[in-house]
Amino acid sequence: MALDDPKTLKTIQTKLLIGGEWVDGSAGTTIPVENPYDGSIIAHIAEATAEDVDRAVAAAEAALPAWRALPAHERGRLLLKLADRIEEETADLARLEATDTGHPIRDCLSLDVPRTALCFRYFGGMADKLEGSVVPVDAGFLNYVEREPIGVVGAIVPWNFPLMFTSWKMGPALAAGNTMVIKPSEITPLSTLRIGELMMEVGIPAGVINIVTGYGHTAGQRIAEHPRIGKVAFTGSTATGRRIVEASVSNLKKIQLELGGKGPNIIFADANIPAAIGGSAFAIFHNQGQACIAGSRMIVHESIADEVIERFTALAKSIRIGDPLDPETEMGPLTSRLHQQRVLSFVEVAKEEGGAVLAGGKVPEGEAYAKGCFVEPTIVRAKATDRVAQEEVFGPFVTILTFKDDEEALAIANGTDYGLGAGLWTNDLTRAHLFAKKLHAGMVWINCYKRVHPASPFGGVGMSGYGREMGFEAMREYTQPKSVWVNVDANLPPFYKR
Ligand code: NAD
Repeated sequence: MALDDPKTLKTIQTKLLIGGEWVDGSAGTTIPVENPYDGSIIAHIAEATAEDVDRAVAAAEAALPAWRALPAHERGRLLLKLADRIEEETADLARLEATDTGHPIRDCLSLDVPRTALCFRYFGGMADKLEGSVVPVDAGFLNYVEREPIGVVGAIVPWNFPLMFTSWKMGPALAAGNTMVIKPSEITPLSTLRIGELMMEVGIPAGVINIVTGYGHTAGQRIAEHPRIGKVAFTGSTATGRRIVEASVSNLKKIQLELGGKGPNIIFADANIPAAIGGSAFAIFHNQGQACIAGSRMIVHESIADEVIERFTALAKSIRIGDPLDPETEMGPLTSRLHQQRVLSFVEVAKEEGGAVLAGGKVPEGEAYAKGCFVEPTIVRAKATDRVAQEEVFGPFVTILTFKDDEEALAIANGTDYGLGAGLWTNDLTRAHLFAKKLHAGMVWINCYKRVHPASPFGGVGMSGYGREMGFEAMREYTQPKSVWVNVDANLPPFYKR
């Protein structure tokens, strides 16, 4: 079935991409895809079964020898062509992503699509820069280390940034010479399917990328347990990440996990307050707070708390909520009904714990919001030990905590099981760097928040996962070292000498 509504979306494929062919799932069933703004069904995508995953892995295995053998600069050239095609398609891709996810179109145009193109461009350029090394070892021996592709890689993508996260995984995997089976979220599969079409168009060979749209507990589970997949790169919740690790033990495959977060965002007394307010709003309200790196805990010095809360609350109440396709919209609906209900349930949790709801906490009023999965920007004042200060809400929901000195700020910031992104706002250079060192986090932002770039490694520590996406680190993640020893003039040791 093809999706075709000329008023909104370009025709795109909704079948599985296996071995260069668009095919139905083996069970012949489909999954409806909903527009979170108005509840309409915008597509029916093929439902991949475990058997379809097996077919996709076979196709990826068949494509592997030729793809690996291709000169690295040729692989890079194809990724650069793909980056160009994505840029040409910016308007349509942005519309598709906004309709499928609820992201405001202005964000899709300024961030999601350009950053996706940038990611493919970065790894296209990286393909022929991946050098091995020569290692100083014993006299008489040459030891060199090559980095080889892992083989068939599985990728499992969540629904919050489907387009960008597809590129974060495909870019380095393909540049390094792997082939791939990728499963987008069943909730937001459309932009990944479109990338599949563009990949075919620019000449990436059949079988190098295989796309299986299906549910997590079936198709996703099969990817995690598949005996001939050498690595799985997963982005999603911590609970699912744990299941993936468990399923991976069958063949001890390599696992890379980008999981949840509860980002601390510390505002010190000497901070530039207007900059901190604007930056903190972006940290939590961009993409409706559906970001693993969201600054969901604002940790504010008690001497400035009243001023910060007043200004921040006023800003939150002024955010323009509405139709994601309206260029004026700053906040769209959450991506699914189920998730909207989950986010709202945390408002009840906050109240039960004695927290004060300072803004939002409900669905915005009015006809325009009735059908969509909206939640108002929500600000809650709570204690550091409360559930709303410990658990990931993954919505436009920020918990404000206060501190009296640096020691307490650090203890609160590091006081969760997560360790993904962390931000701090201060004009004290020494304190800023000291905190950057001491924060339990994979990424730290000083006087900014949520900066991400394909050249900079992305990932977390603790329950936020392990491994890194992007940057040169990603090329390491998608390759394995092979150490080769050569006797160039050695007197071999006297073992067993006759
Ligand atoms: P999720 O874990 O429910 O789903 C993510 C993906 O895993 C989907 O494609 C889903 O179909 C699949 N899946 C579900 N169960 C599976 C199973 N048993 N085996 C294999 N695959 C399975 O997460 P979500 O709700 O889609 O995404 C939100 C979560 O992702 C949040 O917790 C967020 O913090 C996290 N996230 C992390 C990062 C990061 O980089 N660290 C980025 C974005 C989102």
